[in-house]
Amino acid sequence: MRETSFDVVTIGAGGGAYPAAFRLARAGMKVLMTDPKGMMSGNCLAEGCVPSKAVREIAHHWERHQRFSEFGITSPGTVDYHRVVAHKDTVQRKRYAQHATELSSAPNITLLKGEARFTDPNTVVVETEGGTQRFRARHIIIASGADVVIPKIPGADLCLTSRDLYKLDPGLKQLPSSLVVIGGGYIGLETASFFAAFGTNVTLLQRGPRVLAGMDSDIVNTLLPLLHPRIKIIPNAEVLGVEKNTGGLAVNFRVEGAAKRIEAPVILSAVGRHPVIPEGVSALGLEIDRRGIVVRETMQTGIPNIYACGDVNGKLPLFHAAVRQALVAAHNILSGDVPCDYMDFESVPTTIFTLPSAAYVGVTPDLAKTRGIRLMKGAYEFREDSRAQILREPGGGIRLFFEPGSLRLLGGWVVGVDAENLIGEIGQAVANGLTARQIAAFADQHPMASEGISKAARSLF
Ligand code: ADP
Repeated sequence: MRETSFDVVTIGAGGGAYPAAFRLARAGMKVLMTDPKGMMSGNCLAEGCVPSKAVREIAHHWERHQRFSEFGITSPGTVDYHRVVAHKDTVQRKRYAQHATELSSAPNITLLKGEARFTDPNTVVVETEGGTQRFRARHIIIASGADVVIPKIPGADLCLTSRDLYKLDPGLKQLPSSLVVIGGGYIGLETASFFAAFGTNVTLLQRGPRVLAGMDSDIVNTLLPLLHPRIKIIPNAEVLGVEKNTGGLAVNFRVEGAAKRIEAPVILSAVGRHPVIPEGVSALGLEIDRRGIVVRETMQTGIPNIYACGDVNGKLPLFHAAVRQALVAAHNILSGDVPCDYMDFESVPTTIFTLPSAAYVGVTPDLAKTRGIRLMKGAYEFREDSRAQILREPGGGIRLFFEPGSLRLLGGWVVGVDAENLIGEIGQAVANGLTARQIAAFADQHPMASEGISKAARSLF
């Protein structure tokens, strides 16, 4: 078997890998990226954040458009979901082409199509279409991402997953009259929100008592009343199985002992994602917990020259978190595996892109309670906000959480207008340890919803 040497090999070519590859290649290192897709960019572009947001933004336009009647404009037309899907596909193809151009102009980086596995801490073997190849590397970044969890219920194969909705040229190109979503995590709730906006009646089956179980309860309690009335959430639903019936599908489930059944033409299974651990990782003795490969803040695993970035470590499975992790790994590789950079997981914003969206960063009250720390709260309601009034979207608000005494911003959340954008400014403040005084003194733009951030800080004084 042919053996070639590189300075760095990445397993995967998505968000946890390519930012590191580019950084390291610019510094003169020879980098090999491997990925069975044979393309730079991972699941975010293939079936996740980008295509789902392409659909979401059309749903958002459509939802606002429905309110034209309030201004005497008769709402014309219906949604041609086929065209929505075509838009999504166009965005994906454009971004694949953009990535290919970026890659072709980068010196020192090779992308190889194939699945990689470890044979020792400095060697990976890649199964390619042209045969098996062996690579030696001083440093290896595992960035193999995550995959959808398929529930262990009869008929699971009859359900669609987020991949079936958001991949290139997906099967579903017509709006179903009704949709059942199994799972009340962020993917299930976002998708429920988009389809409800388009006119589909959605029933969401949640296993436990609460949707968005990992999210602060104040955020969830603020968000839920703002979701589209076409979304019906059934909590404590234990799904027993899915079966075909005349003209569609049916889900059998139980709520507090009582047997129930719903029929729908489409059922989406959205019960979570699991890390994809490359073969050979366990044999190296790397620690793996229920979330994924265990890493330190340096992104190093238990073997200092092996890094694990992005969804594969399960710490914060978001594309932008993976990018920052990849850069931390790159910096530590450049310093010879001696730490010079650290990942701050607590200053990474998270958004659930429902309509409206909800976003948070850092320490929020539920987390503070588990840590036994006290917070001081600054609050702002969107009903007072000029932009929310202009858009006639007065629900939700902004909360900022400060450390008592120092008044350092530890966290915050936004539900409602522009939440997905506002959380960036709040995240910057958390990441840089800004205080309530500094935030209060900033001239946030009027009449934009960001005004509410400095106003929330000023509510303390
Ligand atoms: P992250 O953001 O964590 O990097 P992505 O989903 O963006 O996650 O990228 C993960 C990529 O890793 C996917 O494109 C997937 O095809 C690839 N991958 C998964 N397993 C392997 C493997 N054994 N060898 C090479 N690439 C892999």
